[in-house]
Amino acid sequence: MKPPPFLYCRPRAVDEALAVLAEHGDEARPLAGGQSLVPMLNHRLARPGVLVDIGAITELQRMERRASDWLIGATVTQRRVERHSLEGCELLSLAVPFIGHRQIRARGTVGGSIAHADPAAELPAVALTVDATMVAAGRDGQRAIGASSFFAGPYMNSLADGEILSHVIFPVLPSTTRCSFKEFARRKGDFAVAGVAAAVDITDRVVSKARLTAFAIGSNPVRLPGAEGAIVGRSLDAADLDTAAEAAAAEIEPWDDIHGSPRYRRQIVAALLQRALQEVAP
Ligand SMILES: Cc1cc2nc3c(=O)[nH]c(=O)nc-3n(C[C@H](O)[C@H](O)[C@H](O)COP(=O)(O)OP(=O)(O)OC[C@H]3O[C@@H](n4cnc5c(N)ncnc54)[C@H](O)[C@@H]3O)c2cc1C
Repeated sequence: MKPPPFLYCRPRAVDEALAVLAEHGDEARPLAGGQSLVPMLNHRLARPGVLVDIGAITELQRMERRASDWLIGATVTQRRVERHSLEGCELLSLAVPFIGHRQIRARGTVGGSIAHADPAAELPAVALTVDATMVAAGRDGQRAIGASSFFAGPYMNSLADGEILSHVIFPVLPSTTRCSFKEFARRKGDFAVAGVAAAVDITDRVVSKARLTAFAIGSNPVRLPGAEGAIVGRSLDAADLDTAAEAAAAEIEPWDDIHGSPRYRRQIVAALLQRALQEVAP
């Protein structure tokens, strides 16, 4: 399969990229690792007239540990994250190896995955669980968008026209936080049929705060407030795990597709959540 014809440009600075996007409007599209966009072009699911390759913009390649967070530039590859020890950002490190295969992670970027907002993608689920902040760059400057409002539907984000995702801020979690990431896919490297991310604070052997997310079950990843509430103040014994799993299965509204029925996905989420909580239990 070959893509439709397009103009290609490779700016060296964010301002330059924004100028090209502004000039061509809807016709132009940022190109990061190309691991989703190039297949979309080849299958004629997208036909942008201009591709703005943001891969040479050094500002978007930053990866910095700051006082209370990690700043990860939009074009930092998933493989670079995988190979880096991200102290305080364990959930991200646990999730990245589930993305496709190593070759895909070598080109696929953190920002590309988050901007693409595939409902079955791992990184949006991580961002939602840890309350990451997406920083958009536009011609009027930068603006911060919280994870809970960034994902606007399947393959939709809340970037405005002409904006690009500049970087993502992942908060460093306290040392009392334990994380687990679980997903079920038919083959290693496939997109998940359903998955669960957990970041649970344990103080004096009981749960003091819980952030639980299910993904690959609907338009966007969703937090599981019922299951979170069910485990706060608990020691995560077998009965607590059962209660949380039941709460999660009851509160999600999974979609129905060729990979699984809503009932099947509810069962997977319940089982994965039990395993995740078992892993983080004191
Ligand atoms: C065989 C295969 C298996 C895969 N399996 C998985 C998987 O299991 N889990 C998973 O999460 N992904 C998977 N992927 C997708 C892969 O992870 C991609 O890396 C990711 O979806 C997009 O990142 P990218 O950098 O390649 O972005 P691109 O493909 O370059 O871009 C994707 C979209 O995001 C937009 N975009 C990119 N960067 C920015 C930015 N900075 N600002 C604004 N918009 C931007 C582009 O315009 C485009 O619309 C798989 C891909 C393949 C080919």
